[in-house]
This record gives sequence, structure tokens and C-alpha cells, in this order.
Amino acid sequence: EQQEAKEYELDTTTFHMGTVVQIKVFGKTPEETKRFAQIVEDEVVRFDDMMSVHKDSPLNNVNKHAGEKVEVTPEIAEMTLEALTIADMTHSAFEPMIGPLVNLWKIGFGGDHVPSDEAIKEAIRRVDHRHVRVTEENGKWFMQIGRDQNVDMGAIAKGYIGQKLAEKLKAAGATHALLDLGGNIVAMGEKYPGTPWRIGLQSPDKSRGAYFAVVAASDTNVITSGAYERNFEKNGHRYGHILNPTTGQPVATDIASVTIVDQNGARADALCTALFAMGWEKAEAFLLAHPDVHAVLLRDNLKDVLVSEALRDKIQPYDPEVSIRL
Ligand code: ADP
Ligand code: MG
Ligand code: MG
Repeated sequence: EQQEAKEYELDTTTFHMGTVVQIKVFGKTPEETKRFAQIVEDEVVRFDDMMSVHKDSPLNNVNKHAGEKVEVTPEIAEMTLEALTIADMTHSAFEPMIGPLVNLWKIGFGGDHVPSDEAIKEAIRRVDHRHVRVTEENGKWFMQIGRDQNVDMGAIAKGYIGQKLAEKLKAAGATHALLDLGGNIVAMGEKYPGTPWRIGLQSPDKSRGAYFAVVAASDTNVITSGAYERNFEKNGHRYGHILNPTTGQPVATDIASVTIVDQNGARADALCTALFAMGWEKAEAFLLAHPDVHAVLLRDNLKDVLVSEALRDKIQPYDPEVSIRL
């Protein structure tokens, strides 16, 4: 009989991209396990330096030189092309050129004021992904946005990066890993051979780690947008950090959380934001029209859950107060 190969696990928690990054990597030796953890750490830092809009970065360079054709990394080009696809597909519910409005409201970044109607109107005028150009010339990638535009990949970058981390790990010889980028989960490989990872979906009103459902996942991304993360209150009104590009207002959604399961991490992240912004009715219609989008919606009554057909054999209810239509 064959001896079960011994496996080493290394868990780390770091802070990058404005969020907590928790990883679990596994290797055949302690040295290999350490090497895998270092690969993830180095790659997160590389992407943070490339895509942060809060410091000098190749992505921020596009904003600094708005109106000009700017050379970008292949990764920025790839992510932007994906962003433009999802923006089209969701009629700008996900809108990567939302920057002027994000900078105006500053929700989640110390801002707690309601901007003037005038300022909102001025910002809306500058939000439109159809002005963005991504081109390739002789193996180099270029990007150009409108003169007064501002790109914000905050709703897609973590999903994109998470998938890239898993790819890098796999290329280095890792068979499985669990990466958590601030609630964006990458389930790489399986937990054990033949047993998928089990990813808990957080109950918005309960303590961290209290789940309303658990999803079985292997080699995929499980990404969640919820109303319980960044927001502020003013005059008895709660403002979330996802904005409507047409009204210029924080979205008032009747969805408590959206989870998307997709092998394409960028797509999962961007769609998550979009469905959250759409609200229950439009999101439900969207899911009917796009059976390849695999989602779990939790309504703001914290009782009703909608699960895409393709996910129904992968989800397990976890809270008797929540009714999951299967
Ligand atoms: P989180 O990163 O908190 O999980 P999201 O993935 O939904 O949440 O991304 C929210 C971020 O995306 C905001 O902080 C903002 O930078 C940006 N954003 C806000 N509204 C939109 C929108 N309608 N489309 C695309 N990005 C948006
Ligand atoms: Mg998102
Ligand atoms: Mg996100």
C-alpha cells in the first residue's frame, strides 16, 4: 500500500491593497511551503505597486496623463479589456471610469460629506468607459482615456490579482492553496484530492465567521460584495461605497450581498459589484439572461436567497433562518 505523502501548511496574514490578505499554502517540505508563501507575497507587492491608484503606479500614470496614449503593463491592458467587456455587458452598472465620482464622495477613505448637485453633475459628465482605448503595438500595450477622465479599478483589480496569484503558484508547482484578499476568495486546486474547498458566505448581520451558506469550490474564485463593508451615515442615511454612474449617487440596493463563483477572477469581482448595484429585480433578470454567470444573492431582508441553477448542487444552507430556493 502507498504511504500518504506528508504535507506542510503555512498560513500568513498581511495587509496590502488596502485590505487584509490571508493565505494558506501547502508544500511537500517546509522549505517548499515557505517558498510558495514568498511567491504570493512578492506577487501581491508587485501588483499593488502596479495597480494602486493611491500611489505612483503604472495604472495611476494613465490618470496622470489623461488624454494621452500611455504605455501600460500587459496585465493592466488585460484587466482593462475585461473591465470594458463587463461594463458593456452590465450597461455600466460596473463602470471602471467611475473615478471622478469616487474621488468626489471619498466613501471609505475618510470622506463623510454629501457633495453638491453641481459637483455631482460635473463628475457624471466625465464617467464613460466608451472613451477608453487599449491598443497593442509591436508587443507593447498602450492605454488612453479621455482628457478629464479617471480610471478606478477598485471593483475588479483584487479579483484579477487573486487569479494571477493562483496561476503563479500553480506554475511554481503548488497543487492547492486558499487565498483570501479581503473577502475575495481564490480556491486553488482542492482541499484534499477529491474534496473541494468549502467557502462560507458571511451573514451580514452576524459576527465574522457566521455563515448563511457554504459553497464547494475548486480551481475557482468566490467573490462577495456586501453592504456591510465600507460606508458612512449622515442625516439618518447610510451611504455605501458603490456608486451609480448615471445618478452620481451611492446605490440604494435591496441586496445585502452578492457572491459570484467564476474561474475568471476579474469577471467575478466586476460582476459582483454590478449585480449589487442593480438591485434584486434587475440582478435576477440579468442572471436569467446570463446562465453562465454563477451567483448567490442574499436579499436585504436577510431571509431570501437566490442561487444560479449551475450552483445549486454546490451550495449548502447553513442558517435555518435563511431560506434558500433550490
Ligand atoms: P470591495 O472592494 O469593497 O469588495 P467592490 O469590489 O464592489 O467592493 O469595489 C468597490 C470599489 O469600486 C469602490 O470603492 C470604488 O473604488 C469602485 N466603484 C464604486 N462604484 C463603482 C461602479 N459602479 N463600478 C465600478 N467600480 C465602482
Ligand atoms: Mg467588485
Ligand atoms: Mg471587491
